[in-house]
Amino acid sequence: MKTKAAVFYEAGRPFEVHELDLEEPRVGEVLVRMAAVGICGTDLHSVKGEWTRPTPTVLGHEGAGVVEAVGEGVASLRPGDAVVLSWAPSCGDCEDCRRGRPARCVTLNRAIAASTLPDATTGLSLDGETVYRGTATGALAERVVVSERVALPVGDGVPLEQAALLGCAALTGVGAVLFAARVEPGSSVLVVGAGGVGQFVVQGARIAGAAEIVCVDPLEARREQAVRLGATKVAEPDGLTSLMKAELPDGVDYAFDAVGDPATTETAFRWTRNGGVCVIVGLPAAGKRLDLDPVDFVRRERILTGTIYGSADPAVALPVLLEHVQAGRLDLASQLGPSFPLDRINDAIEAALSGVPGRVLVRP
Ligand SMILES: [Zn+2]
Ligand SMILES: [Zn+2]
Repeated sequence: MKTKAAVFYEAGRPFEVHELDLEEPRVGEVLVRMAAVGICGTDLHSVKGEWTRPTPTVLGHEGAGVVEAVGEGVASLRPGDAVVLSWAPSCGDCEDCRRGRPARCVTLNRAIAASTLPDATTGLSLDGETVYRGTATGALAERVVVSERVALPVGDGVPLEQAALLGCAALTGVGAVLFAARVEPGSSVLVVGAGGVGQFVVQGARIAGAAEIVCVDPLEARREQAVRLGATKVAEPDGLTSLMKAELPDGVDYAFDAVGDPATTETAFRWTRNGGVCVIVGLPAAGKRLDLDPVDFVRRERILTGTIYGSADPAVALPVLLEHVQAGRLDLASQLGPSFPLDRINDAIEAALSGVPGRVLVRP
């Protein structure tokens, strides 16, 4: 079988759209016709050369589509089913998998580092040479073959371009609040960075019933959007100190770094109150280090932790998020940015790099 896909070679070189050879679904796998794929910060790490992984590769791991065919033994899905892809096709039987945390699976993380599926294959090639798959998914393509366990049914109520966001940004951002930090009603929250994931952290904090939601971001359009989604106060980075000193001088109960850079983590941790929790949500570039003062942990009893993929099993968390969407509490529509056909992948990447508000989507 053939599929058109956006192929990434190296930082600084434009993506190329090629017809790749795609292997048919094996036992337990499904073929998904992709409808929408979001460009995530993780993809941009590769684009910017901050991560070095095998190439040529098909990036993209935040997508939704429709099942087109199923392999042998697939019981949970049928052709025509709308699905969101989870990027965690984990081994299913290690300690982390059994604890409901597939994104922590060592086998999966090895596969992600190698840009393959957990069984070390990719099912993709061009002129007989292996083409790799970003984040164990490779969704920037017309068709993708994945394990049925990571094609999560989304029902009919959510348009696929909105559903795509559930596959990474929404699960990550809302999950950071609801499942990792477990923010309590009435608490105070700081969100550093109001990009795709940060906006979902803001929404998660509103859903959790936080009384104060402070959001800091250098871009005005993003701050305005954060206000529409539930932020009670916003600041640009230079204005945060005076805002916090005036409004929340002791800091917040929960701080989230939705960027994942040492400087933004430092900001989030600096404004975490004594005994409060600071959560790193954004994935840092390789090799970054934090400079920490142990006194913050001992005398001030602050907690610094991180979250991957919403600290939940996507198969369990997705229905929870869908409930919030259907009840009108979780807004996906306003999170959509410009969308591009697959042939214009380079324009899509450029838009994502420029920081336009909303998730940049590719419609393969
Ligand atoms: Zn992502
Ligand atoms: Zn595992």
